[in-house]
Amino acid sequence: MNTAIRHNRLLDPFSLTHDQFVETAFQRYGKTAHYSSPVYRRIMKDGIADPGGLDTAGRFPEWLDPLAADGGPVRGKVVKRVDDGGVVKFVTRLADGLDIESVIIPMHRRHTLCVSSQVGCRMGCRFCRTGKMGLIRNLDAGEIVAQVFAARHGLGVDVRNVVFMGMGEPLDNLDNVVQAIRVLEDQRGMDIARRYMTVSTAGLIDGINRLARLEDGPVNLAVSLNAPDDEIRSRIMPVNRNNPMAALKAALLTYPLRKKSAFFMEYVLIQGINDRPEHARALARYLAPLRVKLNLIAYNPTPGSDLHAPSPEAYEQFRSWLVAEKIFVRRRGEKGGSIMAACGQLGGKPSQPTHTM
Ligand code: SF4
Repeated sequence: MNTAIRHNRLLDPFSLTHDQFVETAFQRYGKTAHYSSPVYRRIMKDGIADPGGLDTAGRFPEWLDPLAADGGPVRGKVVKRVDDGGVVKFVTRLADGLDIESVIIPMHRRHTLCVSSQVGCRMGCRFCRTGKMGLIRNLDAGEIVAQVFAARHGLGVDVRNVVFMGMGEPLDNLDNVVQAIRVLEDQRGMDIARRYMTVSTAGLIDGINRLARLEDGPVNLAVSLNAPDDEIRSRIMPVNRNNPMAALKAALLTYPLRKKSAFFMEYVLIQGINDRPEHARALARYLAPLRVKLNLIAYNPTPGSDLHAPSPEAYEQFRSWLVAEKIFVRRRGEKGGSIMAACGQLGGKPSQPTHTM
């Protein structure tokens, strides 16, 4: 069994696929699949986290992690919710009192949930609020999955897409992220197809190579690029010093992309840093051999930052330069900006859950 699976005395369904749950329930407690399989489905598919609602005798099986406390699962108890124009940011308080943030983004007919994978982050990107926190700890697989459970069954939103783009660098916590993906895609549980999940990275090449070798299939990849060359990238993203852009591109060129899919590239446009016409041309040259969709995001200023947002005119100008270079550019809106749920804004102090990247 994967090291990312918690070895508790009690079983935590959020950390386990259906088969892992059934197997462990039998090995540890002698419960057959006839009994344990419906319990798993009722929790993970139907969203029952009520101690009175699980087994046929109306009791909560004593070998399960207690899922309910004050009406919410203890793996992640939602303590705050803020709405802004359809975007919902919610704060989950973990069992050790730390807070993480997740964002629900309405997109066409499907709701996307942006989940956190760490409390804080050690990558230190200059434009990112989470980066200022430093890394406090990794989330385990169950704490990642619990964010989806909370969105679906706590907040009642039919989440169908999951992006690992919240607090933290997912590839810095890869075992737990991969286990969470396997739990989320289990058709006897959450049933979110892998093609609807995207892992976003600041460009950790070892992690990209490990993801590329997953034996049960590739996952969509987003890369937070944000610069046209190493000099600028290393200035705003320290991760680039050990993961330079040429090596990053080489890793992407060998990544097993699905047919007809593309990498999602994120480019946060920052006034006076990466917004010149020569930057657009260099970016286009860099991206030329890759199948990409570029999300162009206007920097969202955060309190205490010395970086500045581009004007709307500068944003449009940069976008038109890229389009002229035949780059497929998607506008990433400022949805959520007023509740600090836009890109780069998650991550208040862990004891003061207020904002997010
Ligand atoms: S942008 Fe992502 S990788 Fe960079 S500091 Fe923020 S959370 Fe970490």
